Order: sequence, then C-alpha cells, then structure tokens
Amino acid sequence: MRIQLSIKNNFKVSNPSNILLIYTGGTIGMVKDFETGALIPLDFDNLLQNVPELKQLDCNISTISFDEPIDSSNMNPDYWNMIAHQIKDNYLIYDGFVVLHGSDTMSYSASAISFMLENLSKPVIFTGSQLPIGDLRTDAKENLITSIQIATLKDNKVNPLVREVGLYFEYKLYRGNRTTKINAEHFEAFASLNYPQLAESGVHLKVYKENLLVVDESKALVAHTTVDRNVVILKMFPGINKSVVKAIFNIPGLKGIVIETYGAGNATTEPWLIEVIKDLIAKGIHVINVTQCSGGSVIMGQYETSSELSRIGMISGKDMTTEAAITKLMYLLTKSLSASDFKKYFESNIRGELTEV
Ligand code: ASP
Repeated sequence: MRIQLSIKNNFKVSNPSNILLIYTGGTIGMVKDFETGALIPLDFDNLLQNVPELKQLDCNISTISFDEPIDSSNMNPDYWNMIAHQIKDNYLIYDGFVVLHGSDTMSYSASAISFMLENLSKPVIFTGSQLPIGDLRTDAKENLITSIQIATLKDNKVNPLVREVGLYFEYKLYRGNRTTKINAEHFEAFASLNYPQLAESGVHLKVYKENLLVVDESKALVAHTTVDRNVVILKMFPGINKSVVKAIFNIPGLKGIVIETYGAGNATTEPWLIEVIKDLIAKGIHVINVTQCSGGSVIMGQYETSSELSRIGMISGKDMTTEAAITKLMYLLTKSLSASDFKKYFESNIRGELTEV
C-alpha cells in the first residue's frame, strides 16, 4: 500500500514551542454515519475544528495526516516506518511530537516506535480516545489537549522534559512500551502494571520526574525504519495440542517466537514441548518467554516448570509486556546479532521497556 501524507499548518502563536501532530486515524477522528451507525474516519481539518481550545495553547502546532486515516486494527510496520520517518525528518524543527492513533493497537505502535527511534531525546506522545471527538461525552479533547501540553513541557525552560515515547490516556501519561490496552469501553483503557506513571493530569499537571527515562543528549537520533515480520506469538493454555504447536513452529522463514507462559514463566513439563523448543533454538530461532499475567515478571528457574526452559536457552522477557516483547523481537531481528548477543540484548533494558534486577 502506498501511504501519502499531507502537511498543513494550523495555528500560529508567539511561543517558541513547536509541536508536530501526526494523525494516523482511530476513533478520535471518527464520526457516526447516521445511515449505517458505523464510525467512519473524519478529515483532519474537521477534527481540529472540533477543538477550538487548541488556539489557547501556548505553542505552534503543525499537522501531518495519513491521507486515508486508518482504524488501528489495520496498523502495520509500513505505517510504523512512515511515523518513524516523519519524526526523524522533522526532528530538528519541532520540540515535540504527538501521534493520534486508534487505541486498539496503540501499545504495539508506541512500543515499536520506542525501539525504532534510538537516542530519542524529545517527547513522542501517543494518544487517542474511546469516543469520537464530536461526541458530547468525548474523552478525545482532554487526551489531545493534555498530550500537546506534555509535549511542550520544558526542563529549566530549555530542554524537553519528557524525552521518550509516552502514551497519554485518561489523565495519565505512561511509558509507551510499558502499556497494554486493558479495557474496550472504559475511558481508562490502558494500564502499565510493571512501571509507574510518568505524569498525571488533574488540577495540576504533575510530572513524576524520577520515573522519566534518562537519556544521553550528546547522541544523535538514529531512526531504524524497518522491522522483521517473521515472528509469531503463542499463548499457552492447559491442553495445548502438540501437533498444533509443531505446525506453528514449522512456519517457513520463522525467525522468532514470543511464548506467553503461565505466571512467572512456567509451562507444561511434557517432554514434547521441551523437545520442540530445543529444536527451534538449535535451528537459530529466538524463543522468548513472557508471562501471560498483566503484571509481574518471568523468573525462569523459580519453579520446576520453568527450570528446563531456562536450561535449554529460552530467552527471558522478564517483566516486558507482550506488545514490547514482540516489537523488540521484530526490531532486534534486523540487526546481525549472534545468538548469544541476541539473548543478551533482549534481556537488557534498551528503551526502559524492562526492569533489570
Ligand atoms: N478501533 C479503533 C482503533 O483502534 C478504536 C479506537 O480508536 O479506540 O482504531
């Protein structure tokens, strides 16, 4: 698919903060088709007309929009490439970036972009909404306005305060690669169970500086615009069938697997599973262990049901979300790493996505 973007300038005020708004689609910019009742994407100009409050913000806002805004269920690495490119190409011109995105896959995209943008030292804030911007009880306005405000925040009036990929939703800013969508109808749609919030909006906009990523400003931004799609996610469940697992593991070209195990990284000790994983590792396929619990960490070896997985060389996803693990896998697969280096990088904290103990 060819993706075209158009740039339009909106409001100009005197304050030096320049923000680039990247509109990809999602509920935030949709309206109800009164004939069918379905939500359809709205043109970006119409979206901004619904938020005249933006004129009061002390910053210049420019916008880029996908020519055809998408429901985020259609998000894919080609679009991630476009987003990463736009940020890279406009990096020196803008103080911060806000990405408007459907909530369904927002945690995947925020995680992917965090890996694709190495040495990021400006805010990239993902946001969206549960209700369209024109709805009476919409959450879209608050999410949009506060995300832009967060992107303009400065430390000592000079440097950007937030220097990482964040996700703002329902009064809370989280680290993007720590989030998961946990609710399909509540305004509080996201959670970050293994890492505290970065900021909270109430009467005051409170930033928890101690939780922000510390970055080395002297390093230039490097945008990695490709990821490898030869990956799969497998979720364990009692009664999982050997031939089904073997079929997944025989996918041609497969380079990596994220297995969602139980609890602290446990799986059935039936010998066939251990044998399949062992064969995969021997074939050079990277096999990652993440927990299917929303919070907590994989600790291989804590129980007998994970000791063997550790012994045969399965990679620990530690306390990473599945979204972070699969996108980190897709990102690291584009680097030429030996099996041992791959394991070392995967198990190390590279963008604040896991807790090193
Ligand atoms: N289906 C929509 C999307 O992810 C839901 C939303 O925007 O919240 O694009």
